[in-house]
Order: sequence, then C-alpha cells, then structure tokens
Amino acid sequence: MKIGALEAGGTKMVCAAGDEYGRVTAERQFPTETPETTLPQILAFFQEQGIEALGIGCFGPVDLRKDSPSYGSITSTPKRDWQNCRIVPYFQEALTIPVGFDTDVNASMLGELFFGAAKGLTDCLYLTVGTGIGAGILSGGQLVHGLLHPEAGHVLVQKRPEDPYTGHCPYHPSCLEGLASGPALEDRWGKPAAALPPDHPAWIWEADYLGQALTGYIFTLSPQRMILGGGVMNQPQLFPLIRQRVKELLGGYLQAKELENLDTFIVPPACGGRQGILGCLRLGYGARQEG
Ligand code: ADP
Ligand code: ZN
Repeated sequence: MKIGALEAGGTKMVCAAGDEYGRVTAERQFPTETPETTLPQILAFFQEQGIEALGIGCFGPVDLRKDSPSYGSITSTPKRDWQNCRIVPYFQEALTIPVGFDTDVNASMLGELFFGAAKGLTDCLYLTVGTGIGAGILSGGQLVHGLLHPEAGHVLVQKRPEDPYTGHCPYHPSCLEGLASGPALEDRWGKPAAALPPDHPAWIWEADYLGQALTGYIFTLSPQRMILGGGVMNQPQLFPLIRQRVKELLGGYLQAKELENLDTFIVPPACGGRQGILGCLRLGYGARQEG
C-alpha cells in the first residue's frame, strides 16, 4: 500500500512515501517556517505521490482526543506561528484519505517496534533527549495516550546540590527537560553540548538526571526495554554512565533477568535516525486499517 509519512519537527519537516514494510520510495525535507508557507509545500509533495493514507508524527503538545473539536491540532507550542495549527484537518480535507496522528515520540516508538530495537516487545519506552525531552510509551502492546499524552520529559528529578543552574523549563524548576535537554546543557556550561569533552563533569550530572527519570519509568511502567535517542544521546559515553546510575538507583530491588545486564535494557535506537519517519508510515497504515 502506498503510504505518506510526515515527521513534523520544530526545525524541519521530513516527508516520505513508502509502504507498511518500511520501504521508502520518495523523500523530501522542508524547513519548518510558518504553516502558511510550509504546509502547501508538503501537500504538493504528497499529491505527487498518489498515497492512500497518511501518518503524521508531530511536535507538540498536540490534541489527540478524537472527540475534541480541536483534534489533530498542535496546541500550546512555544512556536507561536504553529499554535492551534489544524495540521490533520488540513491534510484530511485536501487529500481525502485516512490520516493517522500521534506525537513525534510515539511515532519513533512505533518505528522501533516494527523495525528496530523494540521488535517483539509489548512494553517499552522511547525517550528522546534533544531540544526537548519526551517519551513515546508502549504498554500492553498499545501506544499510551491517556488523558492527553505522556509528557515524561517533565517528570521532576532531584537537583544535585552543587548544580547552580535554575533550569530551562518555564513551568518547572527541576524537571528533567529543564535540567538535561540540549539547551539546558548549553545554558549551564556556556557552550553547545556537542562541544563538551567526553570526560567533562557535565556528563556525570546528565547521567544522574536521566538515570533518576529512567528509574522512575522502570518502577511505574515496567518496560521490557528502554530506547534512548535524540541529539544529546550522540555522546556514547552517556550510555554506560546512565546504566550505572540506574543500577545504583534500582538498588537491586527488582528481580528480572532483563535487568541483570542493562547493556541490552537501555539501548540506542536500532533504526539509525529513521525510527520517526518509519513510525509515521505505520501510523498511516494503522489509520487505513481503522477505515
Ligand atoms: P530536536 O530535538 O530539535 O528534534 P535533536 O534530537 O537533534 O533535535 O536535538 C538537538 C539538541 O541535541 C541540541 O540541543 C544539540 O545541542 C544537541 N546535540 C546535537 N548533537 C549533539 C552531540 N553530538 N552531542 C551532544 N549534544 C548534541
Ligand atoms: Zn518542565
């Protein structure tokens, strides 16, 4: 089946056409400017492709409640031009095909489920550590939406007493995103995260904050694996530091063979950056199946 995929990000829009098996036949990117300039470019691409369904994984927050008048909109994003943008109705009305819609991180979770590190699992968490921090959650084989959608990047963590940084989140003085996102690292240390050397103390603190959050996710969600992606996770030394911190914080309390070796429990994505767009193909396929 010919499916369209749109990975809608705050800096770029990745568009692809492909099938439910993850075979991509065409791909194009557009910078995220304003809805008035960017959406027609995306639409023209999909119109050329003759797609039968579309899947959108979108930056947020987004309205995913199907009974809501603003279903399929981007809601209170700090990107002003995109506030209240009716992205799903826009494509649905223009293309008259089923449109699947979810958060960008749930799309990545889905991509990893079908094509990557979560194959065969029923319970998993995909965390992105980038400009923001967010999680896509698979529970009992289903993506979690709940009341709105999880905002697991905003869980509170215990700030290190020696950390003077006041946090990057306008809502919470000590949430994970505020203390551990890429911009938080840059703000605290005065240089881009990518420029901090691997032995910089920044990474010990980063692993502490991420480790605290991951331990909380383990206790509440009971995942079979956790996948960590996003720009900041390009620092390979972070993985062993995070695993070590999680091991300490778990305190030996949980008995499961999966937790004996955290090397296979806390892992990078296996789709090599393609998890988002591949997940969007699956969102489109799912929308078509639902009719
Ligand atoms: P976004 O979250 O905007 O979709 P990314 O996941 O690429 O995009 O995250 C961007 C953030 O990741 C920026 O704050 C950037 O400083 C940080 N980042 C990118 N590359 C690296 C790297 N190699 N090491 C550490 N941080 C990085
Ligand atoms: Zn916050």
